[in-house]
Amino acid sequence: MFIGHYAVALVAKRVAPQTNLGILFAAVQLPDLLWPILLLTGKEKVLIEPNHLPFSPLHFTHYPISHSLLTNLGWAGLFGLAYWLITGYRKGAWAVGLGVLSHWFLDAIVHEPDLPLIPGNTARVGLGLWHSISLTIALEGLLLVGAIWYYLKATPGKGRREPFGFWLLLGLVVFLYLSGPFSPPPGDVTSLALFALSGCLIPFIAGWIDYRRTHRQASQPVNSGTALVNR
Ligand SMILES: [Zn+2]
Repeated sequence: MFIGHYAVALVAKRVAPQTNLGILFAAVQLPDLLWPILLLTGKEKVLIEPNHLPFSPLHFTHYPISHSLLTNLGWAGLFGLAYWLITGYRKGAWAVGLGVLSHWFLDAIVHEPDLPLIPGNTARVGLGLWHSISLTIALEGLLLVGAIWYYLKATPGKGRREPFGFWLLLGLVVFLYLSGPFSPPPGDVTSLALFALSGCLIPFIAGWIDYRRTHRQASQPVNSGTALVNR
């Protein structure tokens, strides 16, 4: 799943409005941001098979650190705890932690049974929605549209530029999403990992847009956690 993860972040923003949207974007995509690093360091493995599934040419053969349920629980706890220690914003910490954890469950809807429950264990989970391009896009599109409506209702823009930046970012996210099934598969795992790493830009852009939205008056930072919490 891809844009469905961002839908969770937009909903979480309403639950914890003081948490910067960039942090929530990073949280819900954390396993996919760790994954290319683990690929490049040889800790995890993937095969590129053009006809593997209609929606994805990727055959995930080994990714227990980034994508097992147990490690996702660990990442969720670590990320949520770190956020709480830095900002002291408990509601935001829960949103961040649960945002990380949501990644595994949403992935389990679209992946074929390749998601490990525990590293080293052979049990794999996945409902396989990626067997249908139309159903996958319908589900993720519905999640994103619903979440955008929810998010905009909670955080109205204070000027013309914020909504423009927001829509521009969403356009980028949707473009990246559709580039998967409708473009040639990556030539090799290194190219794939580097492309996946470029996904790190999305949380940064979202964070910048959200920061501008809530700091129009260029207020002075309150403490070191100010970039992580909108005051
Ligand atoms: Zn994932």
